[in-house]
Amino acid sequence: MADNRVVEGRMVTPGKLAELIEGEGIMDAEPIEDTDRECPECGGSVLSVGYMPSVTEFVTGYKCQDCDWSETDR
Ligand SMILES: [Zn+2]
Repeated sequence: MADNRVVEGRMVTPGKLAELIEGEGIMDAEPIEDTDRECPECGGSVLSVGYMPSVTEFVTGYKCQDCDWSETDR
């Protein structure tokens, strides 16, 4: 389970991280990746995860590890 990361103090899987970004259930997620981005809200580390919110859509989501900031490439 090396793909799991601590986000906002909780250990999350790629699927759970994608759900935090999307705000609802997702179909599939790729492994979590580190980015060299800084959170615009708190300066924390930003993770990215590619996921499929539906069968026809692929989104890359970004999520701060320390606060509730997130965005997608939509
Ligand atoms: Zn943050």
